[in-house]
Amino acid sequence: MPGSPYTGSTLLGALLNEHPHCASIGAATGLIRRSDLSSYHCSCGKKFLECEFWHDIVARTRDLGRPVNVFKTNRWNTYLRLSQNRWINAVLVRSLGQDVLNDVRDAVVGRLSGVRGAISEVGWNTWSLASAVLGKTGKSVFIDTARDHQRPKYLARHPLLDVRVIHLVRDPRGNSASIMKHTGADVAAAARQWKHYNVEAARVKRYLPQGSWMSLHYEDLCANPGAVFDRISDFLEVDRAPIQHGSRSLESHIIGNKTRLNGSREIREDLSWQTRFGAADLATIATITGPTSHSLGFNWP
Ligand SMILES: [Zn+2]
Repeated sequence: MPGSPYTGSTLLGALLNEHPHCASIGAATGLIRRSDLSSYHCSCGKKFLECEFWHDIVARTRDLGRPVNVFKTNRWNTYLRLSQNRWINAVLVRSLGQDVLNDVRDAVVGRLSGVRGAISEVGWNTWSLASAVLGKTGKSVFIDTARDHQRPKYLARHPLLDVRVIHLVRDPRGNSASIMKHTGADVAAAARQWKHYNVEAARVKRYLPQGSWMSLHYEDLCANPGAVFDRISDFLEVDRAPIQHGSRSLESHIIGNKTRLNGSREIREDLSWQTRFGAADLATIATITGPTSHSLGFNWP
């Protein structure tokens, strides 16, 4: 699920986890650096360190020969990171902002066995985590809500992973307002973030086979969740199932942002940007996001 943060990906992951054929644990890249393991809670309500589900997952990945230690912060070994230095990592495996540059760079670093090995490792560790979760839950599709736009590009190369991408996009006004609320960014910075994340996510489409990409608007999900659920089932080639929202009887073990804990499965479009933004703010967002917004199917600005 590459794309911008604060688009409802946690909600969509939680909803899909209640689909009889899909399982999600949130972002399969793991806990972020600022998570505090000792007080972190799983969505099941237990302390993360004490949740049997996760201990079983760790044991299963060990049995699969590709151990994934989930009891750590600052990402798991399912996340591609060649160096703790951001800039070195960016030059080696992140997008350079242009297809031509990325192709040239990929051709060069593709000759480095260290880089090839790291990409392969991440693929196998992700396969192991997904297999463990699917084995434990008896389901067939693993839903990864990581918003990392480069992740599908690298996972698509793995021989045992059939990667499908849902590019979940939210209207630039609503998404910018949400980014501002959660990160304290100003309006221009939030709009630039929206543009960057979505342009880079869309750029990854060319690395995936045809039919493996689905664009989804957050607003459509909110307006007609049942129809969107059917679209996703068809896209994932699993039997359709009614959406279970509101149901709290199903257990879940999801990490990620705080929506995982409040038990709310309410699907309602957040329109608070309408009161938050004045004409000047909207003009700023329109200038920065306009062409990208249109290319992603929005009719604003
Ligand atoms: Zn749990």
